[in-house]
Amino acid sequence: MMNCNNMITFRHCGRSIYTCVNGPTVLPRRQSSRCPVCGDRLRLGLLDAPVRVHNPLRNGHLEPCCFLLAAQHGPAALTEWSDSELHVGISNSKGMVYSYTRSGVQRQQEGWEHCVILPLIAPDNHLVVPGNHGNLSFKQNWDRQLEMFSSQERWTPERFSEEEFGSCCYGYALGFINELLMSSDREPIERDSFTSLHVLPRMRTASKYLSVCQHITQYGYYST
Ligand SMILES: [Zn+2]
Repeated sequence: MMNCNNMITFRHCGRSIYTCVNGPTVLPRRQSSRCPVCGDRLRLGLLDAPVRVHNPLRNGHLEPCCFLLAAQHGPAALTEWSDSELHVGISNSKGMVYSYTRSGVQRQQEGWEHCVILPLIAPDNHLVVPGNHGNLSFKQNWDRQLEMFSSQERWTPERFSEEEFGSCCYGYALGFINELLMSSDREPIERDSFTSLHVLPRMRTASKYLSVCQHITQYGYYST
């Protein structure tokens, strides 16, 4: 898979064109560049100038206190919508990722390098999951709470149901979020609303991004 950190987009011949600065199409900024669609020499104005496209996939080990969603078989699988492909976890403040698997709770220092992330703590140190309008600070207790939650008896290998792979790890991560909410006297968030409000929109963005990446890898550019 191409390096997805170098995607740019610009307007030309009535389209939005996406390409990679390392890809077959040279940087449109250079005078000799041509539009990959119409073949015209590019003379881009201020409004059509290339803009770097933000990569929605992040290294989960560098994103403290986040809900993380990754694909078992690499980020390309995020474009597919198979539950069994997906795995979710929670990062602690030091980038250790906790997740529930058929071997019980895993604590991993690597393997979550390409994730869809949902930050659970705002820069001002407050929990950002919905329904929270308070100002409780969690970060200092985060690692301890996560460790305590993960040591509970209910996360044993025996209780992990393989048929519901996605739902078990999801239940664990959401369970932790809800425990945080409830410990601060807030209503727990329902699985469906958490999924539709927070997870699906980010997955769609990542999925679209990866589709464009794959198209660029194959054809050198993507245009709308
Ligand atoms: Zn053009």
